[in-house]
Amino acid sequence: MVAAIAEHSIVRNLAAGRPDKSDEEELKKFSEEIKAKFENGEINTELMPKGNIPYKEWKGSALKPEANENCVECGLCAQKCPVGAIPMDNPKTVDKDVCMACMRCIKVCPIGARVLDETMKAGLVDKLTTMCTERKENELMI
Ligand code: SF4
Ligand code: SF4
Repeated sequence: MVAAIAEHSIVRNLAAGRPDKSDEEELKKFSEEIKAKFENGEINTELMPKGNIPYKEWKGSALKPEANENCVECGLCAQKCPVGAIPMDNPKTVDKDVCMACMRCIKVCPIGARVLDETMKAGLVDKLTTMCTERKENELMI
């Protein structure tokens, strides 16, 4: 199991430019270590990711991107949404019960027409900026 650092999908200055050269080298090393474990039959199938256990029940996120008035209904976000929360025939809308708040639609919209509520976004930026003042490192758990 690998926890790999990447640029934040909304707060773009967090982990900006990651994975960088040093990450790429480290992740390559991780893949070699994983391969060696497989070849030696040493993979630990009981492995649990780190974190505060017991995990809290996922109750969803209030942060659901919506299309603004600039949306031209090209449908790209609907095509790329991993859970089909944006209907192809009406991509200005979103099924908030299905949306898992991954933010991919924001990333793929070619004209920046998929957005978050500005007040909620500001709260998220504050929280994450406090939590991520130092560079985080990739982790290999095998
Ligand atoms: S990708 Fe952007 S412009 Fe296209 S349908 Fe989605 S929100 Fe609208
Ligand atoms: S945030 Fe993710 S799950 Fe929600 S509508 Fe956008 S792409 Fe789909």
